[in-house]
Amino acid sequence: HPLHGHHPDQGRQQQIDEAAGYTAAIYASRAGLKPILFTGMNIGGQLITTTEVENYPGYPKGINGPEMMEEFREQAVRFGTEVRYSLVEKVDFSSHPHQIWTDGGEHHKADAVIISTGADAKYLGVPGEAEYLNRGVSACAVCDGFFYRDTPVAVVGGGDTACEEASYLAGLCTEVHMLVRGDAMRASKIMQERVLKNPKIKVYWNTETVAVLGEEKVNAMRIRNRVTGVEETVAIKGFFVAIGHKPNTDLFKGILDMNETGYILTHGKSTHTNVEGVFASGDAQDFTYRQAVTAAGTGCMAALDAERWLKERGLD
Ligand code: NDP
Repeated sequence: HPLHGHHPDQGRQQQIDEAAGYTAAIYASRAGLKPILFTGMNIGGQLITTTEVENYPGYPKGINGPEMMEEFREQAVRFGTEVRYSLVEKVDFSSHPHQIWTDGGEHHKADAVIISTGADAKYLGVPGEAEYLNRGVSACAVCDGFFYRDTPVAVVGGGDTACEEASYLAGLCTEVHMLVRGDAMRASKIMQERVLKNPKIKVYWNTETVAVLGEEKVNAMRIRNRVTGVEETVAIKGFFVAIGHKPNTDLFKGILDMNETGYILTHGKSTHTNVEGVFASGDAQDFTYRQAVTAAGTGCMAALDAERWLKERGLD
């Protein structure tokens, strides 16, 4: 995603993965399928808290997240998508047509359902983190690393994502301070080696963040060694949190096949789930790419898969 910007302060509310959901709606409505799009509580997904998106093709000057989302919405509505500003609270996919209930007490039946509920980045919850979100604090190096080129930055985490982000940032930044809370990394061996061999990355073992510090923007962090208890302040401009994501798929537990983290499993190169007529797109099923443009791509795939599935059954 352009930026994984949902902070715990905003609460764990369901939101759609807007790039995936609106793209699916654009395709489905242009195919005459009369889609209804449920926005969830926050209306936007991660784009809503993103300031500047520079990596979505077609916006050479960049665009801010909320504006981009509004353009997606307009485009979907233009072709007949019905947008409902409500939260889906319950689904029943056990018989056809599928059924959906919203928080406003609405009940809908649908021949096909496309899921684009997205995923939220996890945050640490330390002082300064929420305050400086998008002003130094980020959860996506590919999205925001460019803004911190030629400055020192920090990456928190010891998984594959953290290693990948640290390696990526090392190519742009002067120095990468990588904070690992334990005495070992969880990341795959090859990713760890890449990090440990990189002279621009300094790994701090057994280290936790006490606070993110700054004035207008981030300028330092306070860290603490969990074994010795020694604290220090390190100058940084960017603070990248890479401690994992949580897909917004609780609603579908026990109904759709998922991996152990809760990402919905899709068949092969398609968006088909284990339930006939239910398709999954965007970050709810993708933990690898997680970009707005790839989410849009899978939203398109889901609409095409749904359209074909409906046609084969004479339901279009
Ligand atoms: P992981 O769950 O694998 O790793 C999370 C990391 O964050 C762990 O090192 C964990 O530490 C640390 N962590 C968690 N909470 C905190 C906290 N509060 N403070 C400090 N550190 C914390 O998540 P990833 O996003 O890295 O990976 C998710 C999945 O995606 C994995 O299966 C991974 O292999 C895969 N992936 C694969 C890639 C690839 O192959 N190219 C790239 C990216 C992801 P601890 O170990 O101590 O619990």
